[in-house]
Amino acid sequence: MGNNALSAICYDLHSHSTASDGVLTPTELMQLAARNGVDVLALTDHDCTDGHAEAAAAASEAGIQFVPGIELSVSWRKRLIHIVGLHVDGEYGAMQAGLVELRARRQLRAEAIGVKFEKIGMPDVYGGACALASGVVSRSHFAMYLVEQGVVKDVQQAFKQYLLKGKRCYVGCEWASLEDALAWIHGAGGQAVVAHPARYKMSRTLFQAFLEDFKALGGVGIEVACSSHNSEETRQMAKYAEALELFASVGSDFHSPHNNWAKLGYVQALPEGCRPIWQSW
Ligand code: AMP
Ligand code: MN
Ligand code: MN
Ligand code: MN
Repeated sequence: MGNNALSAICYDLHSHSTASDGVLTPTELMQLAARNGVDVLALTDHDCTDGHAEAAAAASEAGIQFVPGIELSVSWRKRLIHIVGLHVDGEYGAMQAGLVELRARRQLRAEAIGVKFEKIGMPDVYGGACALASGVVSRSHFAMYLVEQGVVKDVQQAFKQYLLKGKRCYVGCEWASLEDALAWIHGAGGQAVVAHPARYKMSRTLFQAFLEDFKALGGVGIEVACSSHNSEETRQMAKYAEALELFASVGSDFHSPHNNWAKLGYVQALPEGCRPIWQSW
């Protein structure tokens, strides 16, 4: 089940482990990738590269090509944008220093979310979320805790009722600037890719402006095929990629085997005419 028209190689260039909000360890992730027929897998945890060493070892054991990656949280014009870095060297000092700062802000935000839950009579949510996080603490851990406690029926519902912007327990955060995020990725020897672009719900004009900023800072790719895109969105992103001369990437954004809409290794094929990012490797 290759996703490259020119070969049968299966690429999945966006996935998460327990180093952030995924539920599988890097080793379990690689083992599942092998079972699912993935040939090349990028681990792209949120604001963290701690899973790389284990993933690299497990990938070689499982016969998979491992791409060390990251998914950076970025604030651009007060919007949250995710930027994937592929082939980043986790040892790069300036990036790690930036990540330490980003995670400190995450921690403060998590505490503030906890206070909001406390105020609506749910004092245990912060502790419960932290207990579920073995690495970076994210809104996903709050959602998982609420599901575990039977407060909501699933993670989506937890976001809808409490955690999305405008909901009762939402707390904003100033993430990395686009400039810093791309400088870290490039300093670490990596390539910057816009994650799940159709999810931002920007107007055409705004999205165009964003892509121009992204390109001017050296960004080279955009996820054309990913689990959160329908086929129309995939076609639309392929057009943006072509118009702005960006490479096309593919990623499942896998977090958990219990999630049926983002399965590891399962992404739509890239539309005709796309230049897959792996052609630049
Ligand atoms: P954070 O980085 O802490 O703001 O958490 C963002 C993470 O929450 C994303 O990476 C997704 O894994 C998850 N997430 C965001 N929005 C939703 C949603 N509507 N439903 C389910 N999960 C979501
Ligand atoms: Mn996530
Ligand atoms: Mn994301
Ligand atoms: Mn992701």
